Amino acid sequence: MNHDGGSTGFGGCLCLVMAIWPICPLLAASIGSRKGDAIGSFLMGALLGPLGVILAVLSSGDGETATCPHCRGRVSPKARLCKHCRTALK
Ligand SMILES: [Zn+2]
Repeated sequence: MNHDGGSTGFGGCLCLVMAIWPICPLLAASIGSRKGDAIGSFLMGALLGPLGVILAVLSSGDGETATCPHCRGRVSPKARLCKHCRTALK
């Protein structure tokens, strides 16, 4: 007569995490690709799962970058000198 139901709180939560874990690297990579770091974000999502996606979102928020017109390197939008090829920007 004993039905072992009613205490599936933790199990359900863990199940949800495991279900979304495989898409986390893809999600993180798509976020990271906007700031030119798709591979790093992909690995972060693969290793940390949902946490890696959150980190990718947070790091892309304040990590605004511009692209150097000369060497296509990523530089700060406020930079006056490209750190890669040392060309004056703007
Ligand atoms: Zn440059």
